[in-house]
Amino acid sequence: MSLSQGRPYLAIPGPSTMPDRVLAAMHRPAPNIYAGELVDMVATLWPDLRRLALSSGHVALYIANGHGAWEAANANMFSRGDKALVLATGRFGLGWAEHARAMGVDVETIDFGKSSAADPARLEAALRADRERRIRAVLVTHVDTSSSVRNDIAAMRAAIDAAGHPALLAVDCIASLGCDTFRMDDWRVDVMVAAAQKGVMVPPGLGFVFFNDRALRAGRSADLATPYWGWEPRVLGSEFYQHFAGTAPTHHLFGLRESLTMILEEEGLAHVWARHATLARTVWAAFEAWGQGGDIGLNVAEPT
Ligand SMILES: *Cc1c(COP(=O)(O)O)cnc(C)c1O
Repeated sequence: MSLSQGRPYLAIPGPSTMPDRVLAAMHRPAPNIYAGELVDMVATLWPDLRRLALSSGHVALYIANGHGAWEAANANMFSRGDKALVLATGRFGLGWAEHARAMGVDVETIDFGKSSAADPARLEAALRADRERRIRAVLVTHVDTSSSVRNDIAAMRAAIDAAGHPALLAVDCIASLGCDTFRMDDWRVDVMVAAAQKGVMVPPGLGFVFFNDRALRAGRSADLATPYWGWEPRVLGSEFYQHFAGTAPTHHLFGLRESLTMILEEEGLAHVWARHATLARTVWAAFEAWGQGGDIGLNVAEPT
């Protein structure tokens, strides 16, 4: 006999809970992909996506999950044989490194394990040791879902500056965008990847790559970029279909419109962050009580 009753609620990192309003916004017949409602609505997404990331730069949308967003970022940052420095704090950091290596990038990984954050002093030392300036980009995960480690992205930027190194700073915010404080411009992040199905509350199938003008210029010589993954036509193309290199992910875009309205217009981004921080504190408090016998504990003992 099954005891389950009522609405199923699955609490895993992603796909996370999708509000009925988001699902309902997707429930519609096929729209015209050349003109009219869809095209007008998509024009409103770009400024709102920038508001979500606190970015004044560009955002490319891909029909992809987070792994696709990783590959999109890699394709636009690197040429075959270029060097990447990966700061790994869990499975997803290692995964991004594996994708880059398989694409022909020369990857150096500093593995900080599964329970501690990336150390800015080690980043600075690795960049200083790169006297020939071969490292094109530093790849780091904001929050690694597999370990729960959160990295201090502003400190990573400061370490790159202290080393006087020209490498791009690229950050995986797939788990954290729309949940945890992230300030792309203020922290001078050059490239940021995200996906639809976690904090953004849309079904899996949309990958986002945010990037600034510095990354756009650096990426113009990247020979791993292909017609589909190249980001420049997606952000600067004059025809609507160029934003998606073909048919737009029509229904996901209507879902995204609804979720951005909920996050930015109704609840407010600062309130969303505060809500997640409050819920996090309840989890910490619960584990403090449950863990007293030593049977259960959080992976990272330090709340920050
Ligand atoms: C979920 C997640 C990914 C992978 O995303 P997919 O959509 O499953 O490809 C990558 N990085 C982080 C930090 C994640 O949480």
